[in-house]
Amino acid sequence: MEKILYAKPVIDSEVEKLTKKCSELKSSGKVATLKVILVGQDQGSVIYTNNKKKFCDKIGADCEIIKLSEDISEKDFLAKVNEVNTNDQVHGVLIQLPLPKHLSHIDTTNLVNPAKDVDGFHSSNIACLFRGGKGLDNLTPCTPKGILTMCNYYGIDLEGQHVVIIGRSLIVGKPLALLLGNHNATVTQAHSKTKNLKELTKSADIIITACGTPKKFNSQYFRDDQSQIVFDVGISRLPEGGIAGDCDFHQIKDQLKAITPVPRGVGPMTIFSVAQNLLQAQENSL
Ligand code: NAP
Repeated sequence: MEKILYAKPVIDSEVEKLTKKCSELKSSGKVATLKVILVGQDQGSVIYTNNKKKFCDKIGADCEIIKLSEDISEKDFLAKVNEVNTNDQVHGVLIQLPLPKHLSHIDTTNLVNPAKDVDGFHSSNIACLFRGGKGLDNLTPCTPKGILTMCNYYGIDLEGQHVVIIGRSLIVGKPLALLLGNHNATVTQAHSKTKNLKELTKSADIIITACGTPKKFNSQYFRDDQSQIVFDVGISRLPEGGIAGDCDFHQIKDQLKAITPVPRGVGPMTIFSVAQNLLQAQENSL
């Protein structure tokens, strides 16, 4: 197996399948259509939404970024969501977070039509994971789904493996624990109150860091026998510029079997999963 697990070869190999699926669905008369609702001009959100649009363009899907004003009323915002939720020509709906302060009390998770929920956060889609869903054929949260796609591509068999996940957020840690458990991994979920984290990570076959503390995981957290695999989900902006993952990549890479870099590791897989979910949603609608 490669030492550095980049997203690019995974996406290059899968994008062809997605493009083919998109054009097959197109021949049924319907272009896969995603509507991304963006309120305001948060710099990060603008970049994320543009990246999603670029990827949709690449596979032949249609993506519109609906730009709403920063001071849109709650009533108008909800009306716009309802409009895309009920439009038969729209297969995927995504509300880009964060919302401005006056809308931040809205639970967007269950606002999107579950059949169009390309983020996979709606409680009925999460319930699929609770019921044992394997992820790839469901509208599954995108980062966990992307990690599963990487495992499949790089031949990482999860069955019986001890996976330690650091983080228990609703978007990464929790759905990831369910998903990998459904693939017969033995999952331990760690968080900020976990004791003996170093012993835990050293005991694992696979470690997935998703805590958002840059370069926290140094050589002391891993064995030295090149048998462990690390997925680094963290993305943090450094005060000196640039971004870093949760792992001290250069310090630990030689003691591991394999590791995802930051950037170019798990991050691009998340956008790829949005496209996968969009085509799944369209297929389900037909
Ligand atoms: P989050 O909601 O802030 O959750 C962080 C989790 O990490 C919490 O469960 C927290 O524990 C745990 N944690 C924090 N500090 C810890 C420590 N020192 N030791 C052990 N556990 C600790 O974050 P998130 O939304 O899941 O995102 C996590 C990171 O992944 C961020 O850097 C984010 O930017 C990145 N991210 C990347 C992608 C991607 O596409 N690659 C997607 C989403 C997020 P408690 O529950 O006890 O507070």
